[in-house]
Amino acid sequence: MKINKLLTSTLIAAIALGAISCASAAIDIITATPELADIARQVGGNKVSVYSVAKPNRDYHRVEPRPSDVSKIAHADLVVRVGLDLDMWMDSLINASANRKVNKGGKGYVDASENIHRLEVPKEQVTGASGDIHVYGNPHYFYDPENGKVIAKNIVNGLIRIDPANKETFQDNYQAFAKEIDSRIKKWKKELEPFKGYRVVTYHQSAIYFLHRFGLKSFGTIEDKPGIPPSASHVSELIRRMKDQKIKAVVIESVYSKRFPDLIERETGTKYKTVPYSVGSDGAKSYFDLIDSWVDKYQNALR
Ligand SMILES: [Zn+2]
Repeated sequence: MKINKLLTSTLIAAIALGAISCASAAIDIITATPELADIARQVGGNKVSVYSVAKPNRDYHRVEPRPSDVSKIAHADLVVRVGLDLDMWMDSLINASANRKVNKGGKGYVDASENIHRLEVPKEQVTGASGDIHVYGNPHYFYDPENGKVIAKNIVNGLIRIDPANKETFQDNYQAFAKEIDSRIKKWKKELEPFKGYRVVTYHQSAIYFLHRFGLKSFGTIEDKPGIPPSASHVSELIRRMKDQKIKAVVIESVYSKRFPDLIERETGTKYKTVPYSVGSDGAKSYFDLIDSWVDKYQNALR
């Protein structure tokens, strides 16, 4: 009886100790990309520690995770992915980690594309044969700052599932983030207002959500199709059309080769501008910086 009592009290002490150490440890978040990491840091505040699998300025369609990423996900509390098939490499990582909590449907699984209003959803099923890699619609939704708020909300919902005791803190952080986006969007819209309806050439179809938000239009891409490298015939046809319709704006995402943009510049006389592909590249230290830089470069390209 005495031994039983001792065991019970030891057990209670151990549980209490465990609870204390759990409460003081940060929530371990693994995100697919640096943009998601920055937003997770902003809404998680001092309750989280965040790691991004993709490094800045890597083509997110083609990330090659490291074996160490598997063990990071194995110990993660929350996994945040882009979804819409942009980061299919996250599926293999999550599967390999055998961490059920962060598997699809688990408490710690966040698909940041949830509730995003998708653009360019194919009317017919896209097959591998066409080579187009935007199978569920365009996955580059995070370049629209309104979608930044949707992402933040999805992450906050995940954080509350993991750590309901801090619900209010996460909700307050979300409000602060959304307020900052709202005030910046007013400024960004004003800056791009004079260029409404203008057409832009980009490298990949990355900018469509950004263009849509600010009333700009895509004239075409240097790639033949999303994921299909540029061909000489496609680029020369693009140059012909640009000259014909007097298109004066070319904006390249920093991750892509400058070979064809240089050619277009030589042939059309249109100087291209380069926007940061990622948070953490080309001086963009945060998600706000990233969009700031896009607005700035687009203004310069459209002038
Ligand atoms: Zn893409």
